[in-house]
Amino acid sequence: MRVLITGAAGFLGSHLCDRFLAEGHTVVGLDNFVTGHPDNIAHLMGDGRFEFIRHDVSTFTYVPGELGGVLHFASPASPIDYLELPIQTLKVGSLGTHNALGLAKAKGARFFLASTSEVYGDPLVHPQTESYWGNVNPVGPRGVYDEAKRFAEAITMAYHTYHGVDTRIIRIFNTYGPRMRPRDGRVVSNFIVQALSGEPLTIYGDGSQTRSFCYASDEVDGIYKLFMHGDANPTNIGNPDEYTVKQLAELVVELTGTSAPIVHEPLPVDDPKVRKPDITRARATLGWEPTVNVRDGLARTIEYFRQHLGTPMMDPRTPRPRAGAASAR
Ligand code: NAD
Ligand code: UDP
Repeated sequence: MRVLITGAAGFLGSHLCDRFLAEGHTVVGLDNFVTGHPDNIAHLMGDGRFEFIRHDVSTFTYVPGELGGVLHFASPASPIDYLELPIQTLKVGSLGTHNALGLAKAKGARFFLASTSEVYGDPLVHPQTESYWGNVNPVGPRGVYDEAKRFAEAITMAYHTYHGVDTRIIRIFNTYGPRMRPRDGRVVSNFIVQALSGEPLTIYGDGSQTRSFCYASDEVDGIYKLFMHGDANPTNIGNPDEYTVKQLAELVVELTGTSAPIVHEPLPVDDPKVRKPDITRARATLGWEPTVNVRDGLARTIEYFRQHLGTPMMDPRTPRPRAGAASAR
């Protein structure tokens, strides 16, 4: 099958390109590098089954030739990215999803939307099942991401219902691993980079908020299985192993052996207090569940950052203010 992956130069998109190529497919990668990096796909250049198009999917998007799948992963995804790029985030979730759906419809291709656990907002149901509608502040700082993804889910379901497009919606929970940008502001990359650089690990708030962390290879396996064997209903893919942010910081300190201290900074506005996927549906419909525990996944990610920190590819961009810093407090 020939598939289009938008957001191909990003963290998840690049791993997904690798997986589709490994399964024998042909991949067209599309990206405008707003939060991704060419180095994430440099190893694919020269592979006859990989093509790359530099393009903004929020503008009219045409790809010549047959396509069996369109996987829409383009979107800023880290809170500091979508706070710095609020309009681009809204556009890629709405206009970008519309363009990608239109392309899938024109090609008779299966469409796959990368949605997020953020559609549940600051959840009042725990763990989060797919039937929960969420608790989102549309005009808060995170609204640009959350509402764009909620719109994206709605238009994806509408194309399925009214145009008969074969669609999938995945709700991805916090995923980490190699190829995250070291200064992308997400908690796992922040803590590891801080620990390895001997900088204080910054816990926002008292660190009692929880997240459930999925290693990239598990997430990509769930994505692939959902693409091949799933149905149109939203499906949570994540690791239900839940940690407080404080526990995560302590684990990173232990695994890196750093002597860096842990410090506390203010909690960003609307920061969800808990997050944990209910993956009953993925287990039942796809036979999928995560296999890499957080300790092992963190060890592999630490090793990646150890090898890459300080190399020019790692973070050419200036570190930016963290989530919520502009308007939140
Ligand atoms: P990322 O920032 O590493 O990758 C996103 C990629 O999309 C980047 O390469 C960026 O340059 C590209 N992009 C953004 N806007 C674009 C546009 N208008 N046109 C073309 N390319 C554009 O983030 P990621 O973590 O790999 O996330 C990928 C997808 O998965 C996103 O849609 C995100 O919402 C979703 N997701 C990720 C997580 C996670 O924990 N990583 C959790 C939930 C959802
Ligand atoms: N966080 C933190 N220190 C950091 C970065 C993040 O304490 O340096 C917290 C953040 O406030 C949130 C959790 O870690 O409670 C996860 O943040 P992340 O940005 O990774 O993603 P989110 O799940 O909030 O989208």
